[in-house]
Formats: sequence, structure tokens, C-alpha cells
Amino acid sequence: MTHIAIDLGTTNSLLSYFTEDGPKLIPNALGEYLTPSVISFAGTTLHVGASAKARLVSHPDDTAALFKRTMGAEKPYSLGKKSFTAVELSALLLKTLKQDAETYLQGPITDAVISVPAYFNEMQRKAVKSAAAMADLQVARLINEPTAAALAYGLQDKEEESTFLVFDLGGGTFDVSILEVFEGVMEVKATAGDAYLGGEDFTAAIANHLIAQAAVSSNLPPEQVAGYPQLQHLAEQAKLALSEKHEVHLQLDTPPLQLDLVLTREKLEEITENLKRRLRAPLDRVMYDARLSPEDLDRVVLVGGATRMPLVRSWVSKILRKFPEATLDPDQVVVMGAAVQAGLISKNSALDDVVMTDVSAFTLGTEIAQEVNGIIKAGYFQPIIERNSVLPISREHIFTAMVPGQREVNISVYQGEAPLIESNLFLGEIDVPIPYNKKEQENIAVRFSYDVSGLLEVDTKVLSTGKRKSLLLKNLAGELSEKEIKTRLKELAQYKVHPKDQAENQRLRAHIEQCYTMAKNADRDILMQMLRDFDALLEKQNSSDIEAARESITSNLAAFEANYVH
Ligand code: ADP
Ligand code: MG
Repeated sequence: MTHIAIDLGTTNSLLSYFTEDGPKLIPNALGEYLTPSVISFAGTTLHVGASAKARLVSHPDDTAALFKRTMGAEKPYSLGKKSFTAVELSALLLKTLKQDAETYLQGPITDAVISVPAYFNEMQRKAVKSAAAMADLQVARLINEPTAAALAYGLQDKEEESTFLVFDLGGGTFDVSILEVFEGVMEVKATAGDAYLGGEDFTAAIANHLIAQAAVSSNLPPEQVAGYPQLQHLAEQAKLALSEKHEVHLQLDTPPLQLDLVLTREKLEEITENLKRRLRAPLDRVMYDARLSPEDLDRVVLVGGATRMPLVRSWVSKILRKFPEATLDPDQVVVMGAAVQAGLISKNSALDDVVMTDVSAFTLGTEIAQEVNGIIKAGYFQPIIERNSVLPISREHIFTAMVPGQREVNISVYQGEAPLIESNLFLGEIDVPIPYNKKEQENIAVRFSYDVSGLLEVDTKVLSTGKRKSLLLKNLAGELSEKEIKTRLKELAQYKVHPKDQAENQRLRAHIEQCYTMAKNADRDILMQMLRDFDALLEKQNSSDIEAARESITSNLAAFEANYVH
């Protein structure tokens, strides 16, 4: 029986398994190793991966991405008319990955090793297990992502004690961890990060630069230029190209949009200076938490697609005064390591991975109002317990009533990382009566106490009277019962993914559409014709004709794309 390994990433997910020759990647239905962690619905048809990602632009209301960020939280995602939690979306993704593995390995798959961030707490780990159960997969083991990365590099085989740092810059998250291995036990000593920093921010910085340039060369207001999706796509292409070469030529001639510019690595450095600054804080913090200085590190491991950027690599070597390990593909490292763990399990031995679950995975806080240009505006988030705080923890914050004479203060509790509460998750609220005080605003102390089992106690005290009132929030992450999982499993079963060949056709259609947005008049006609001809062929269902058309379309699109990024 084969245990597969799954890297259930925020941006991309991967599959692998362990063979006699070591870990091996499993391609998805499109023959690719990376499956974008994106889900989209078209009626009861489910899109997972590349075609769902393409629909992020065309059908944003039916498409969800980045849901790993709210894993274990009950934040609903509404897709079309339906509502899903991150667990359910992850279940749909896992189900597709499982099917891809079954097709490739030609047999049923029942068990998987799944990687999770080191800072995931008990509740989030349970959420991953619930998602796996909904996808009909047993979790043979959850492995910490940095531990998996270390396993992929064979760092567990060191004779003597060794210390290393795992630097993981993905699409939308940044995690840095310090690990120690000693006598077959791998321990996560410290972890820090930024849940809102990743490769996509570099893309956004390039896009902003292109927007500013295109606004000048097209003689249009930047706000109008920003509305064109072409520039976002071009920015991503430019970012990838700059990891390979020193400069890239970008050309757009789609009236009213005009752009003709050479983007160099130096320019990229310049426009992403602030992002590099943001990488610094978690790095310093993890070193501080582990009481280490760069000389104490034996090795540095690079993980995450965004560490392919030369500027990130050279920055890491400069700061840590050490060349990082980079012999493995950074976006494949985690899943390869998870497969090593799967291999160890099937040999009835396993690496002991000391899990670091004693941290709060989310920031917890309350809603506050703020004065903006003389007007009082509600909806802002005031963190009280910061993400990644060691549990149990208790923190107090003093709030002041907005106006004198106020009779009551509402304390609304939220979890999340966004500055505005509308993007965070509402957990509960408590109204605190305050004495009538005409002259000045009353002060209220709000204490949050959070423990490992997921209990949050909110304790309020009116300072002038000493009166207390409290609120207890249970099971923040909402663990699902066996029965709930079974019910959802049935409901989710109605959504069907396209069979393998159709998945490829769907992706190609989406690609033609994407090129269409980039194109100008005559090219647009050609692309439209291409789409129509292809649709006509698909209706006839002659697979050899379709196959031939796919090949010619693919090479035509590649030639077309070379026109604007080269
Ligand atoms: P996650 O772990 O969040 O799922 P990945 O490790 O797959 O994410 O990283 C995805 C990010 O890596 C994306 O922002 C993508 O644009 C970026 N990326 C992938 N390849 C390259 C490259 N060659 N150059 C620059 N960025 C890259
Ligand atoms: Mg990752």
C-alpha cells in the first residue's frame, strides 16, 4: 500500500510518494507538479487548480484562493450561491489531488502524509484532518513544513547535533523556522513569519510600477490603467523572467494601453526595497527567540517558489552570512520531505518530529473606532493577542469610551490578520454597561486569556467602578464531528471535476482567453477564431483531432506570448 505525501500549500499544492529511488513527484491531470490551491464553481462543475486560477480574474465571485490562511476558522467563503469553509474547500482540493494520485499510481489511495505550517495549533491541525476525512483520506501523519524541508535535504542523518534555519517564502506567506536535530529527533525551536507577505507582493510591486509607466506612455490616469488585467499578468511574467535573466523587455500595444519598457533586476530591487525590509523582522525575531546568532547556524534551507528570485537569495546569504542550500527545487522541497516521512512510516520507522503547537495561530483582538479626518469611523481592528504568541497567554488592553456620557461599550471579538475587521472572523461580542459620566470618557480594561485547548476568555473591567463582565468563547476553530464530516462528504460529492482530458482542454481555453486580454485588434480576431474552432472541435469529440489542435494551439500561444515579454 502506498502512502502519498501532500503539500497543501496556500498558493500551490503538490503530490509525491516514496519509491526505492527516493521521493518522486506525482503529476496532476494536466501533467504538472504544481496544482494551484484555487477552487472555482461553474454551476455544479468544480474547477480545481490551473483552470480555477484562470477564473480568479474572469469569475472572482465563484472562485476562492488562499483559504489555507483561515484553516480552522469558520469564516465562510461564498461561491456563487453556496457557502463553504476553508475545511470544505481544502477537502475539495484534497479529493482532486487524491484522484490525480490514483490515476497516476493506478490504484486506490487511502493514506497520506500531509504537511502543515509549524505554527499551526491543535485546532488547525484538526481542521486539516477533518478536510482529509471529507476527501476520504486517512492522515498517516501531519508533518511540519520546515521539518519536511529538512528531511528532503537529508539533514536528519547528521551524527552530531545540528541547527538550521528554514526560510520559506511562498506566494502569500512567509515562514522562518529554526530547527535542531539530535539523535533522530527533529525539534522546531522557534518560528516566526508574516501571514501577509509572499511572492505575490513582489508581483504587485511590479504591477504598480507598470501601471505608473503605462499611465504616462498611454496618457491615461493611473486609476484607469490599473483597471486593465493585462498589466497584472505582464507583471507576473516579468517577475518569472527576471529570475532567469538580468533584464526583460515588456511591450503592450493594446489601445488605449501603451507600454514599452525594459525592466532590470536593479529596478526590481529598487521597487521591492520595502518588501525586503518586511522580511527582516521575522528573521530577527526567530533568531532572537532561539537565542542564536548567524554563526550558530549550521545550514540554511530555502523553501517556497519566491526564493527562486535571485534578489531574495542574495539577501538571505548576506544577512545570514551563509550560502543557502538550493540544490532542490524550492517549491518541491516540502512535498519531497513529506514523502520521505511517508517512506519511513511504511518501513515502520518514523522520524520523531517535535511539534510546536503551543502558539496561537491567529491574532485575536477587538473592533475599535478611529477618528479619520475629524469623523469617527468604526471597523478597525485592535490586536490584543498577537499571532504566534506562546500559549497559554493573557493580555490586557485599556479602551476608552468614544464620548463622555456614553452608557455602554460594545466589545466585539475578532480573529485574523487584517487591519479592518470586515476581513477578519467575528467570534462573539459582549456589551459592557458603564456609569453615566458627563464630564469625561470612561476607561475599560479588556483582558484576553487564551489556552492551548482553544478557549478564549474575554474579561472586562470598568476602571472607575471595578465592575467586571466576561465572555467565554469555546472551540474557536470549530472541530467537526464524525457525523458532520459524513454529511458534508455526501454534499460535496455532487461537485464533479472534469475528467483528465477535459481538464487539459479547459486549461487551454482559459489560456487562449488570457492571451486575448493581452492582444490587440488583429491578434484578437485570430485568438477569437482559435477559441471558436477549438470549441467546435470539442463538440465533435474526436480525440485525435483535439489532440492535434491542442499541440498547434499551444505552440501558437507560446509564440504569441513571446511578443510581449522577451
Ligand atoms: P505556497 O507555499 O504559498 O503554496 P509556493 O511555494 O508554491 O507557494 O510559491 C509560490 C510563489 O512563488 C508565487 O508567488 C510564484 O509567483 C513564486 N515563484 C515561482 N517560481 C518563481 C520564479 N521562478 N521566480 C520568482 N517567483 C517565483
Ligand atoms: Mg509552501
